[in-house]
Amino acid sequence: MCFNRAAAIRWQRQILGYIGSCVDITEQKHIQQQKDDFIGIASHELKTPVTSIKAYTQVLEKMLLKKGETKEAAMITRMDGQINRLTSLISDLLDVTKINSGKLQFNDREFDFVPMVQDLIEDLQRTTEKHTLIENHTDIGIVFGDKERIGQVITNLITNAIKYSPQADKIVITTSLKDGEVILCVEDFGIGIAEDKLNKVFEQFYRVSGDMQHTFPGLGLGLYISSEIIKREGGKIWVNSIVGKGSTFCFSIPLHGKT
Ligand code: ADP
Repeated sequence: MCFNRAAAIRWQRQILGYIGSCVDITEQKHIQQQKDDFIGIASHELKTPVTSIKAYTQVLEKMLLKKGETKEAAMITRMDGQINRLTSLISDLLDVTKINSGKLQFNDREFDFVPMVQDLIEDLQRTTEKHTLIENHTDIGIVFGDKERIGQVITNLITNAIKYSPQADKIVITTSLKDGEVILCVEDFGIGIAEDKLNKVFEQFYRVSGDMQHTFPGLGLGLYISSEIIKREGGKIWVNSIVGKGSTFCFSIPLHGKT
């Protein structure tokens, strides 16, 4: 397989000819495929034992609470939190392999948008004591799309807002409707992102490097997966940010689904 690069040779605004080179990308594609296959197999193999460990910890936690051993039960709760992190990393890796092989499944149907967002926020509020998740909703009504996948994007944006604003005490989530598009924005008051890095954050495995960022865990996949989901739903995702002041991540999707 050949990837062509051609450049025109011009003299006094006239094209005299073209010069080209041919780069064989068969090998590159093969290596990329092997990399994707490895990530897919490894994450699939990790998923089963982690699911089973999670089930055992939940049983153990209940047993300890029943016996009144609250200190030990609290340790298991923390263990469960770490297992959830592991599960979410594995599921991000699986999603990336599915995206790269064109196999990410979508199940579009009608759902009530704002109650879905409110449920997610209620769950996510339990994961942070420091931040108050402030909601600012417009009555949007019924939306056509994949509820779980859109929920995954919202969870990712709010989880990032919590993670990248360790000193802040609030996060504002706004929903609105404009020209047949549903818009959701998540505003945080955290570390922010430099202007030249703003477009890159949606790339696969990209993580902003800097003095602050190395202290935050992650694989650099959440925003890539989110942008692919929003693209597939016929929408757009974007970010505005000021270093040291905070970031606002927004997405828009068509109210009546992709046309
Ligand atoms: P991860 O958080 O796992 O690294 P993401 O794909 O979600 O991966 O984000 C990519 C990068 O974008 C992050 O590593 C971080 O540098 C930056 N980023 C994402 N969200 C925010 C935010 N709310 N504030 C500041 N930086 C962010």
